Amino acid sequence: MQAWVIGNWKQNPATSHDVNALLDDLLTAIEATEQANSEVTARCQLMVAPSFIHLTAVSARLKGTSVLCAAQDISAHSASVGAYTGDCSAQQIADAGATWTILGHSERRQYHQESYDSLLQKVTHALMQDLGVVFCIGETQAQYDDQQTLEVIDSQLSVIKSLLAQQQELIDSLSTRLIIAYEPVWAIGTGKVPTVAEVSATHQHIKQSVAGVAESLSAITVLYGGSVNADNADIFAADAMIDGALVGGASLKAESFLAIATAFSKGSI
Ligand code: PEP
Repeated sequence: MQAWVIGNWKQNPATSHDVNALLDDLLTAIEATEQANSEVTARCQLMVAPSFIHLTAVSARLKGTSVLCAAQDISAHSASVGAYTGDCSAQQIADAGATWTILGHSERRQYHQESYDSLLQKVTHALMQDLGVVFCIGETQAQYDDQQTLEVIDSQLSVIKSLLAQQQELIDSLSTRLIIAYEPVWAIGTGKVPTVAEVSATHQHIKQSVAGVAESLSAITVLYGGSVNADNADIFAADAMIDGALVGGASLKAESFLAIATAFSKGSI
């Protein structure tokens, strides 16, 4: 199965100049990696998600390369153009050249109070514009301590389940257009990680739960996210339930991003 390694650049880098420098490094590192081992990018799909402001430039530079470009969010009010200050619609995102979007990242849930309703709108609009969706779920530290991980995940996955119940015609396209990223909130940017056994069990639960709604989704891609770096990627990549990684901090350096991709390309054999 093909692995996926996705870089969530968040509100980085600070300037267009720095974005170009990161892309220069990334494309040079990919070329060097492909020359040394052409299997890496064949076995591991790479994607990066820059800020809205950099989306057009980044997607233009990535055209014709093996790296896909995603947005970090879309507007819940994507049905039409109009008076939604500060928002970017799914259509605008697709027009800017992105082919995927991250949705439901814990920082959006925390700082922008993203609700079940707004996420249902966002996922629906993304798919209507043919954007693939990387749907993020995960528990907080308190929920982890209270052993509520699976309950929290089931509740967050209800967005996807409702969508499928309402729009059966989406099921076929979802098998290639939906990725679930399991990201424990307490592991994001903290250097703390769950054990591989914990991640593996949670991923198994996610896969079974999604397959319970539609058998065609039984092979859904489930990524782990939270403090993945060049040093620990191997142990996650070795587990059959972990199909790749959503990477924050370590995606801002081409070298560590490519090291993670290399680990998952070996894990996918
Ligand atoms: C993220 O924010 O999606 C993430 C996984 O961040 P980090 O890799 O920095 O923990």
